[in-house]
Amino acid sequence: MPEKILVVEDEPSLQETLAYNLKKQGYEVEAAGDGRLALEAARARTPDLIVLDIMLPGLDGFEVCKILRKEMTVPILMLTARDDEIDRVVGLEVGADDYLTKPFSMRELVARVKAQLRRTELVRAELERLKIAEPETPHKTLVFTDLSIDQTRREVTLGGEVIPLKPQEYDLLVFFAEHKGQMLSREFILERVWGWDYVGDSRTVDVHVRWLRQKIEKDASNPQRIVTVRGGGYRFEG
Ligand code: CA
Repeated sequence: MPEKILVVEDEPSLQETLAYNLKKQGYEVEAAGDGRLALEAARARTPDLIVLDIMLPGLDGFEVCKILRKEMTVPILMLTARDDEIDRVVGLEVGADDYLTKPFSMRELVARVKAQLRRTELVRAELERLKIAEPETPHKTLVFTDLSIDQTRREVTLGGEVIPLKPQEYDLLVFFAEHKGQMLSREFILERVWGWDYVGDSRTVDVHVRWLRQKIEKDASNPQRIVTVRGGGYRFEG
């Protein structure tokens, strides 16, 4: 089944060019010319990806993106005409997955679309592999010998001493702890801990793992708790 892409652009010639080039890649393409039609199409067709222009009549791309973010986890690639829009595009409030600044080449657009869809596919496959279930008791304390994670207080102790962790370090540690013994790829960790509204790359994960190791490993240069899986990602050993 071809992947479905929703193209939202009010300028007819650009809408047509986008649709033509994406269809040529084998995607099923639907187009919408304003924000309200975009919302309707997204809800009715559940596309695999949305290409969303910011400047639209009526409801603009920012508004459309914010609304869709609350309703579905579809990757959104935004088209901006001005550099000063980029901060808003990638900011938490709007939270696009990626953006292109006009003018851009169709080759660039197709490459970005493919990258986003690959990322979605990776996460889907890994979810399937791990068969992640919602934790039954979300606020329990996780204990691994001398390391203890109190989820009610969001507090981590090592040998009885409280370890100060930044929020992202804490979330990352809990994610590891909930998947003890499982190999977790950087991409997957990025998606699950940082989420869809995060624009970044997997080096973010490496940096945070390094910080965590300095805080919870006896010897950060020879980690025993968070081990690196060659060519894969990380595995939490407990
Ligand atoms: Ca436009």
